[in-house]
Amino acid sequence: MTETDILKSISENLSQRKSTAALNNYEVLCNNIKYVNNLLNWGVNSLRVLQSQLETTFKDDCLVSADFKDNTKPLFYFRNIVPRIVLNDISILEKFVSYTEPDNRHGITIDDVGKLQKSFIDYNNLVTSARQFIDSLVADAYQLTLLEPKSTNYQVLVSLNSFNKYATKSIRQGLFNTEIENSLIEFETLNFNQWANSHITKCAHKSFGEKVDFLFTNLNLSAEADFKEEIKNLFKFSSEFTHIGYVSTFFTSSNASEVIFTDDISPYLPSTENFSELKYKILETATKFYSIIYLPTLLYSFRKSFELNIYQIFEASLTNLQEKIIADLKTRNNQYYFFIRQGLIASDNVVDLTCMCGTTNHWQPPHDLAKIYCKNCGSKFNLLEIEGDPGYIMTSSGPVKVIGSSVPDFNDLSPNKKMELMKTWEELMKKNK
Ligand SMILES: [Zn+2]
Repeated sequence: MTETDILKSISENLSQRKSTAALNNYEVLCNNIKYVNNLLNWGVNSLRVLQSQLETTFKDDCLVSADFKDNTKPLFYFRNIVPRIVLNDISILEKFVSYTEPDNRHGITIDDVGKLQKSFIDYNNLVTSARQFIDSLVADAYQLTLLEPKSTNYQVLVSLNSFNKYATKSIRQGLFNTEIENSLIEFETLNFNQWANSHITKCAHKSFGEKVDFLFTNLNLSAEADFKEEIKNLFKFSSEFTHIGYVSTFFTSSNASEVIFTDDISPYLPSTENFSELKYKILETATKFYSIIYLPTLLYSFRKSFELNIYQIFEASLTNLQEKIIADLKTRNNQYYFFIRQGLIASDNVVDLTCMCGTTNHWQPPHDLAKIYCKNCGSKFNLLEIEGDPGYIMTSSGPVKVIGSSVPDFNDLSPNKKMELMKTWEELMKKNK
């Protein structure tokens, strides 16, 4: 291609935007966004409780490990700094949670469907908050892993130096005292090339990518190579939005009118659906990051900071928190298999499919195979047809009723019948071992 070919393709394709519909189902997206947003919000509230315990625990000389007891040693000073870092992270997490709430579709009609339209400002707020989330939590997790004076000095002094360039007098007065002034003066004696390696500062992993690599290695997460790339890709994608790149601005600042879609709940627009699709993707990445990187990093840091019995108390609550978030996140967009009596598909009967999330989906005739998924959690259903009237089928996870069989549902059986069936199942499992 020549330079003119490239410019021509930009002119023809990236200057007038087509309206596009997202590939996901909007109702499912909203349900999943609500679920994961609630989950993360719960995770942040739990962190708030933990942060206050952390602050109290660090104040007590008897509870911290030997190196943190002695005020002639640098680690002593992390007793104030660590709880503050966690508190800063809570603020960032709370902002992110507030920008990733599901759309409020209550009472939306054709006349005011424009309220659901998503534009440049919405995209920019969402992605910028994702950028702040990932950028700050990676930087802070890095500091919490190291607990190294020169590295913390570097991060704070670089921040202070920038802040000082433009802050107003009143803001400066609220923050700067002689000690801080002197620290900054000391930092200002360094030339730029010395910032990352001097008598007071150090930064061995300057870029975002280097810090991410460091964190994954430290937590021994070599099996999560794809997720590591996902984190770096979110960073690059969000840079494009935060720095008002050409493509992201073009994509989000359209004034073209949109077609109106509708579902069981209310009318909506293609831009609403596209936006929710992105929101869900970001929310899922961020929540996974929180559970498999951020929380384990806190734990890693506490191992250095506290006496063993105190560490074990934190370990129990952090592990519970982490496991619940991981398990709940996995309940979205799964694949489930159902056994179904042959002849039921394409009959006149409504087929009730109860998903693992507890929602019963009523599959209406003429049984369109594209419509067998759970509206609540987005899981896809696969059907395995069985001949005759087979009753229950023994699977590795227990007896399962074949949908459409003449036997009662397992839960409606009498306790004796249930026991009998479980016994048959157990014997069968023993035989097949
Ligand atoms: Zn479901």
